[in-house]
Order: sequence, then C-alpha cells, then structure tokens
Amino acid sequence: MLKTKDATAKGAAKSVIRAHAEMKATLPFDDGADFKDAARGFLGTIPDARIVAKDGRVLWDMAAYDFLRAEQVADTVNPSLWRQARLNLHHGLFEVVPGVYQVRGLDIANMTLIEGDRGVIVVDCLTTIEAATAAIELYRKHRGPRPVTGIVITHSHSDHWGGALALTEAEQDNASIPIVTPEFFFENCVSETVIAGPAMLRRALYQFGIPLEKSARGHVDCGLGKSLGLGRRALVRPTDEVRATGEKRVIDGVEFEFQMAPDTEAPAEFHFFIAKYKLLNLAENCTHVFHNLLPFRGTLVRDATAWSKYIAEALYLWGGEAEVMCGQHHWPIWGKERISEMLRQQRDLYKFVHDQTLRLMNHGLNASEIAEHIKLPSTLERAWHARGYYGHIKHNVKAIYQRYLGWYDANPANLDVLPRVEAGKKYVEYMGGGGALLERAKADFEKGEYRFVVEVVSHLVFADPDNTAARHLLADTFEQLGYLAECATWRNSYLLGAAELRREISNVTRGHLGRDTLCVLATQELFDLIAVRLNGPRAETTRSFRIDWWFTDTGEMFRMNLENCALTYMQIEERSESDAEYRLARSTLDRLVTKEITFSEALAKREVEVKGDSGLFDMLMSLLDDFPVNFEIVEPLRKYPT
Ligand SMILES: [Zn+2]
Repeated sequence: MLKTKDATAKGAAKSVIRAHAEMKATLPFDDGADFKDAARGFLGTIPDARIVAKDGRVLWDMAAYDFLRAEQVADTVNPSLWRQARLNLHHGLFEVVPGVYQVRGLDIANMTLIEGDRGVIVVDCLTTIEAATAAIELYRKHRGPRPVTGIVITHSHSDHWGGALALTEAEQDNASIPIVTPEFFFENCVSETVIAGPAMLRRALYQFGIPLEKSARGHVDCGLGKSLGLGRRALVRPTDEVRATGEKRVIDGVEFEFQMAPDTEAPAEFHFFIAKYKLLNLAENCTHVFHNLLPFRGTLVRDATAWSKYIAEALYLWGGEAEVMCGQHHWPIWGKERISEMLRQQRDLYKFVHDQTLRLMNHGLNASEIAEHIKLPSTLERAWHARGYYGHIKHNVKAIYQRYLGWYDANPANLDVLPRVEAGKKYVEYMGGGGALLERAKADFEKGEYRFVVEVVSHLVFADPDNTAARHLLADTFEQLGYLAECATWRNSYLLGAAELRREISNVTRGHLGRDTLCVLATQELFDLIAVRLNGPRAETTRSFRIDWWFTDTGEMFRMNLENCALTYMQIEERSESDAEYRLARSTLDRLVTKEITFSEALAKREVEVKGDSGLFDMLMSLLDDFPVNFEIVEPLRKYPT
C-alpha cells in the first residue's frame, strides 16, 4: 500500500488559518475537564500501545501520532479536532472505580473489565484477537491473573466483538463462560455489512482514512477513537440474550441491570447499570461525540428519536443513582450532576436535530438547505461531547431527511439528472471549456470559496479525468477543506480524495468475504448475497430454472428460482417438481461459493448428491459478478460493468 506523501501535501491557506482562529475564540478551550477525565485512574500501559501480529506486522502503534503531543495546534488541523485527537491519544489500563477498569487506546473501542467474586467480567472485546489479547494481558499484569468469568457484548458492531476468541480460548473451562448480548445480536453482527459489503468497504476507507499517512497533514484521528484496528477477528455465539428492559443477570456475583436500546447506533444494542459499583454504561449511545445517524461507509439510516428516547429512559432509571458513567469509546465521567447533565445534553442533541430537521422540512427546505440553516442552541454548541467529530450536524440532518423523505427533493429538475460524466461534459462546455473553468476556479480558490470550487472542478475531472491541472486543483481544494474540518470523517474523506487525485495511493486491497464470514451467515443471507451478484443482462441469455437445496447438516430445505433475470428463494418443507435437487452440507455450499472447491470436485468426492440437472450450479456461478475492491470515487469509473 502506497502512503500519501507529506511532500506533496500543501500548507494551510490564509482563509483556513483565519477560520481556525475564529473557532478558537468561540469554544471553551480553557475547560480542561475532559483531559483530567481521560487521564484519571491511569495504572499503566504497553509502550506506545504497540501491538504486533505473530508474523511481525505492526497492527497498532500510537508512536505514529506523537506529533499530536504538542499543545500547539498545527494550522493544517482544525483546533477542535486537534483537541479531540489529543484526548484520544491516552492509552493503557485505567481504574474507573475500584473493581472496574478500562483498557483504552489499544483499539478504536474500549474494553471494560468488571471484577466479580472469582474473576473478571469483560464488557466488549475490541476489534481483533490481537488487541483483545494485549488488553487482557495488560489488565492481568496490574490486577493479577484473574480468569474471565463472563463476557458482555453491548452491540453488534465488530469493534465490540471481533476479539472475543482471545478471551474464550485462553480460559480453561471456557464452555462455562456466559456470553451475554442484546437479542438479535448475532443476526445483526454481519448482516448490516454483508449485502452491500464491497461498496461499504471501499467507502469505509474514506470514512476512516485508513491509507493516509499519520501526520498533521494527514490522518490525525477518527473522532470516535484513534484508528481502526487491524488483525484477526472471529464471531462468537452468545449463550444468553437479554430481551427486555429491567432484566437482570448475576455474573460472577455481580448484578447487571439491562436496558434495551435497539435501532439506535446499532440495530441490536443495550445499556446496563451495576448497583454494586453505581456504574452506568451506555455502550455507544452516549460518547464524547455527536455520533453518526448515517456513517459515510453507508448503512440504513439510524433512528434519532429512538436514540434520544433511550438516553432519556436511562436518565430516568439511573440518573440519580449512577456515580460514574462509562461508554465503550472515549473516557468516563464521574459525579451524579455531571452524568445527569451529559445525559440531558445528549438526549436533547438527537431530539433537537431530529425535530428541527422535520420542522424545516415541513417549511419546504431541502436537505442541503436544512444543513446550511440549522444551528445548535448555544448550550449544546459549547458542550464538547456534543460536537461533530464523528457524525456531524450537517450530514446528520441529511440522514434524517433521507429517513423520512428519501433522496428526492421533489424538484423535477432533480428527478432525472444526467450521470456524472455526461453532466460534467455539459457543464464544462457551458462554462466555455476546461481552461476557462479552471481560471475562474483558481480565482475562487484564492478567495477561499472551496465548496463551490470542488463542485465545478469535479465536473471537469469527470469530463476529462486526465486533465492534470484539474486533478491538482481539485486535490488542493479537498485538502484545504480537510484542514478546515472539525469532523474527523470529513477530514479523512477530503484528504483521501486529494491523495487519490494526485495518484499517490494505489493497490489498496481489502479482504473479500471469506469462508469464516460466510459460515456465520444464515442460509437466507447467503442466498441474498448470491442474488445481488447475479448479472441481470447476462441472465437474460439463459433459461429459467429451479433448484431445490437440501442441507444435510442444518436440515433446511430451500427452493431457488431463476426467472425474469431475478434470483428468488423460499424455505420449503416438502420437495416437489424442480429442475435439480442438490443434497449437501451448508458448509460445502460455503466452499463452493468461495471457489475453494468446484462443483465437479464436490460431486466426485460425494459431497453433493444430485437429482436432475447437475450442470445448473456451474451455470448459476457463471452468471455471478465479482466486485472490484477499489473502484474510483473522485473520478470516473475505469471499468463499467456490462
Ligand atoms: Zn464502536
């Protein structure tokens, strides 16, 4: 993977430096409470939080961010983001209260460790097995060789479960370790990211800025934490699912009281309170950021009102009792009044933005007009934890608009717009050609009118992707927008866009869906995944068919139907007429789909029994597309699908 080069990155423009100075004057930078909280209870760490894979690859290393230790803000970084990036530098083991500990800064997420009668209950397992191993070793170094007596996983995103195997495999009687999750946890762990996986992975590079060099002109933070953890991950099955608010579990002598919070930051999520420690944990729904209602990687739009409602309910249930509140990202806060204040502000943040978006929508404003118009009340504007380091008010209101009204603003001028390349060519023509366009754009660039410059120069890049002057001006403009951005995900997107336009980054490869992921999918999900790979135009040249699948290991039967170029399926109880019947283990189908084995090999090894047409499987496979891992985003697609 090539890295962006600081040498080609430019310095900050005067207008950017001026905007940063204005921001410094309006926000309470002298309030040091967060820095005290982030450092409180520090017990020790591993040098530079460095985590190395068995093969020697460095998976995590905070030394790369040492440039952030300067209090002096680099003018190429928004000062508020610089502050957040410095808060996210803290790493190691921290005492939350005696008996409750957190490992922070070894991953984007936190591991919370709650001591019980015999051992320790681990809340969330970080993104990777390597990170989780480092975290539990660090904990034990300071708190003794306590066994893991329970695992609680707060929600279905992989930065909270990916490392679980490190904890279960290392224990002697791991079969008896309860793994407690919210209901529908397992079903949601991968489904949110599977069907649109290739597009989401590519977009996630922009969101998290993974290929960027770590520097004051490059990657500084992700807002939610420092970066994404690299390494191995595996999904574990829960042994116990919590279904209703008020349910309690006693794990290793510690009583957890749960609150369900589905359809908030994750489709399956819960909060809990531990009376013994007067500890409230709101998972990822009340962290030190305005979170995403729709992350740039893409997903279904989240429900801002549910989010607000569950924070309000937590305040009602435990607001007067909790003496410490921690989440699964960022640092805890202590004291009943501060907890209550943060809960009220976070509750109102999501509700305000939701309600005001709807209000302005009903006045006729479209999404970008709402984003321009809406302003947080000053009480929320000045609350550091409500600032948009990960989500941002300007893209969150667009998410709310999308949730209620969709992509269309009802203006027929936007009903059937030309695609990017065709529109680009016409814009360039109307503006008097590429030279004239660039001349005007350069003048506007000098004036700091970056938002319009990226719009027009992007048209030119789509019309003429080999126009080097256009690529460079667009890259320079993205870069200044990146330097301006308070939101880490905006900064990452702009700077990666700039690097790709300068052709500094290539060969970024992300893992395809492997068998370890396929095997945890429900058969319905696997069929959904196959169906979205079906090349419609190619299917038009083949005949319709029907296959009955009979899975010998799971006992399931499915009927798959290809007709009118659409692949449909349903679970069936009884066999009837079909063109072919395949009896095989589900695990064999996984291997067939990942091409570890061919259908004829499986036949020869008797792993598949066939009645009827044995050629249909290969025919189906020949109709499936493979997706590119690295499609173009800031310039025209090099290869259009046929
Ligand atoms: Zn998370």
